[in-house]
Amino acid sequence: MDIKICQAVREAVGDDMLLMLDSMWAYRYADALRVGRAIEELDYYWYEDPLVDEDMYNYEKLHDKLDIPIMSTEYVPGRFYGLAPWITHKATDLLRGDVSVTGGITPLVRTCHLAEGFNMNCEIHHGGNSLNNVANLHVTMAVPNCEFYEVFPCNGDNKFGLVEDIEVDKKGLVYAPTEPGLGYEIDWDLLHEGYTGTAE
Ligand SMILES: [Mg+2]
Repeated sequence: MDIKICQAVREAVGDDMLLMLDSMWAYRYADALRVGRAIEELDYYWYEDPLVDEDMYNYEKLHDKLDIPIMSTEYVPGRFYGLAPWITHKATDLLRGDVSVTGGITPLVRTCHLAEGFNMNCEIHHGGNSLNNVANLHVTMAVPNCEFYEVFPCNGDNKFGLVEDIEVDKKGLVYAPTEPGLGYEIDWDLLHEGYTGTAE
């Protein structure tokens, strides 16, 4: 079914649009290989999280068989210190992180620099809410080895923390803020709404 969906999407958007598949840790090795070969044929740009992040053994095997860049390590065990074996075992082509899961701006910058030392990209994951997305934006602009700025249009519970959200323009671009700090105004009224008390 996943292969059919990938084929249908490629057909619908044509050959010029970049497509990536995020399988969200759904497969075991044999299925991951089948899907990977199919999306190579369909000229997908990267293959994200086909296997669980604990399964470096099968990621190595998959990496040996496929040409499409594989991206794992979004929730890698051990966080920063868990990344080095993924590089040295050639189990992923791209590192992954964001300010929320990686632990903040500084750990995410370190992760990007670690990747840079091996001529790899660290593709920064969306932040899960408006405020984290802004922090991600700063890291993305500060490093040379992240190709895309990933942002889900924030609405509902995702839209959290800012007075004005990041706007993506018609070309799919976002721009550097010019105000000090993170460059966006934090919505303190909203944050205080959820405040119930301080544990002492
Ligand atoms: Mg993902």
